[in-house]
Amino acid sequence: MVKYDPKSSDPAEFINNEEILETIDYGRANAHNRALIIDILEKAKKAKGLSHKEAFVLLSCAEDDLNKEILKTAKELKLKFYANRIVLFAPLYLSNYCVNGCTYCPYHGQNKHIPRKKLTQDEIREQVIALQDMGHKRLALETGEDPINNPIEYILESIDTIYNIHHKNGSIRRVNVNIAATTIENYKKLHDAEIGTYILFQETYNKEKYENLHAYGPKSDYNYHTTAHDRAMEGGIDDLGLGVLYGLDSYEYEFIGQLMHAEHLEAKYNVGPHTISVPRIQPADDIDPDEFDNSLSDDMFEKLVACIRIAAPYTGMIVSTRESEKVRGKLLELGISQISGGSKTAVGGYTENVTKGSDQFELSDNRTLDEVVDWLIEKNHIPSFCTACYRKGRTGEVFMGMVKKQGIGNICHPNALTTLEEYAIDYASPKTKSDIENLIDKEINNIPSKDVQEETRKNLIAVKNGQRDLYI
Ligand code: SF4
Ligand code: SF4
Repeated sequence: MVKYDPKSSDPAEFINNEEILETIDYGRANAHNRALIIDILEKAKKAKGLSHKEAFVLLSCAEDDLNKEILKTAKELKLKFYANRIVLFAPLYLSNYCVNGCTYCPYHGQNKHIPRKKLTQDEIREQVIALQDMGHKRLALETGEDPINNPIEYILESIDTIYNIHHKNGSIRRVNVNIAATTIENYKKLHDAEIGTYILFQETYNKEKYENLHAYGPKSDYNYHTTAHDRAMEGGIDDLGLGVLYGLDSYEYEFIGQLMHAEHLEAKYNVGPHTISVPRIQPADDIDPDEFDNSLSDDMFEKLVACIRIAAPYTGMIVSTRESEKVRGKLLELGISQISGGSKTAVGGYTENVTKGSDQFELSDNRTLDEVVDWLIEKNHIPSFCTACYRKGRTGEVFMGMVKKQGIGNICHPNALTTLEEYAIDYASPKTKSDIENLIDKEINNIPSKDVQEETRKNLIAVKNGQRDLYI
């Protein structure tokens, strides 16, 4: 029997099937074990995180009052580590050419009725200007896997193009990259291109299911895909994003697998994932969501987000516009720290009326960025366009050490307010602008250090006087 070993380099050991199945049995058997659940909750409140096994007991809890306590604990941890700040970003789809066979994605290689498109550098400029004109500063690059159409040179050239566009007061200051698993050499190139986070979704941690869903193409190699974050780390990228596509296999299996993957990175590299994403499968061209019978109810999805927040209190959590305004609103309280806004999921989607059916998935939240910003403020969150950390060298272990000591309030809070002031002046509608000014007046007093409050006041005046990109 293969044993669970988070430090191992073998995916069969660090995402260990037997351990996952045993954990599922253990959680189910203890769904009413109040003493155990209360013990785990006490540990959770110390804000040091939980093991996958402990977290799964919470996810399995079937006691109503304790379930309320679980959600309350997640909310408290969210506030403790992230306060009420929410970082905003947008995806940018460069190309939907893809040689893989993911049965849940309309870009799969055998879908013959989807229009294929790859942006030229000029078209990327147009997209980026449109994104800058909305107010975005942080992008997540997305592309299918195709060594001929989307080689690494194309990705690197595109990143360079994006960083060098400055339209009016706009700039993209952090490019996160979500491309297929690749070699250490290519990860080094991405690192040298100054990307922010490298994000790769596992899709499903269940190896058998994974192999059924990915019948052809390089992505069909489960082991190569599952060790991609390790290679990225060896290539020098230490801000890494994990994610699964909830709905492909049981949410229990994926939840445990995702936490094991985080434990692996922590055990092996002393730095856990920078972010964890929680997408749920959505309808799209050539995809029948009924094929995937592991859908997750909104209530269980919320509890799952809360349990990830409790298990990994210092890891950023991302939810996209796949989810509706209503669901996103609830998840923000329970642990989400980053959301996308004003997103388009078709190649070229920010400037043209893209052919129906060319989106990677249907959006449930179609609001503009300005509407999302104002909605966040109305819900008592601070929208943030901050991108300071990687530019200040605060990545990987350095960054995690800072978050674990809860030392980010004096950095994130001022940067959120300064970037929001930029947004108010350059892009906001009159109502959003006025709401931002009121929010800044109130929130500046919540910066823990008086000295940093003073510095932030000076920075805000400088922004009003025309300076941009001031950060701590
Ligand atoms: Fe290609 Fe990614 Fe879609 Fe799979 S999920 S078909 S790799 S674009
Ligand atoms: Fe993120 Fe760093 Fe900005 Fe905080 S200061 S919001 S951690 S980039």
